[in-house]
Amino acid sequence: MNIVLYPHPALRTKSVPVTKIDANLKRTVEEMFSLMYEAKGIGLAANQVGLPWRLFVINLTGDATKKEEEMVFLNPEIVKRSPATDEDEEGCLSIPDLYGPVTRSSKIIVDAFNLQGENFEVELDELAARAVQHEYDHIEGVMFTDRMSESNFRNVEGVLERFEQEHKRAQAAGHLKSDEELKAELKELASKQGG
Ligand code: ZN
Repeated sequence: MNIVLYPHPALRTKSVPVTKIDANLKRTVEEMFSLMYEAKGIGLAANQVGLPWRLFVINLTGDATKKEEEMVFLNPEIVKRSPATDEDEEGCLSIPDLYGPVTRSSKIIVDAFNLQGENFEVELDELAARAVQHEYDHIEGVMFTDRMSESNFRNVEGVLERFEQEHKRAQAAGHLKSDEELKAELKELASKQGG
């Protein structure tokens, strides 16, 4: 398992619900946390590791020793978003070293399941609200750069183009499968969870 980079097709896939919580899924979640800490992130969605499932993990401290801060969201729904918004810089482990301002709802209410299969609802604000909105976008196939204002987007467009060129180079060199093959794999992986 590894973190896929923009513009890997997994990042543009609308993920399917998780239908079974088994040892395999628990291992996947553990590996996702490890990769996230290694990359110095605070959140990671399953499709960022090539798995098109509605699942993401968050630890706002980014500290691997603070296990009590770990949050797992399975089949999350943002059931309420405050009309009030905040703008702040975001980054993404799938577009390393690219940062830009994004406007998000200041407060949200999220409904989700934890790894024990229990349903929970939580009200979040500040960084937690921002992180969940960013990760929730991922499982919908949306990147934070899609949400940047036109003028801010223009500042990062060149960087995104370099990622696109690198993606094509890796495919041409045989280090990465073609988009068609990757999409076929994603379909197969989606069918393993989805019903
Ligand atoms: Zn991200």
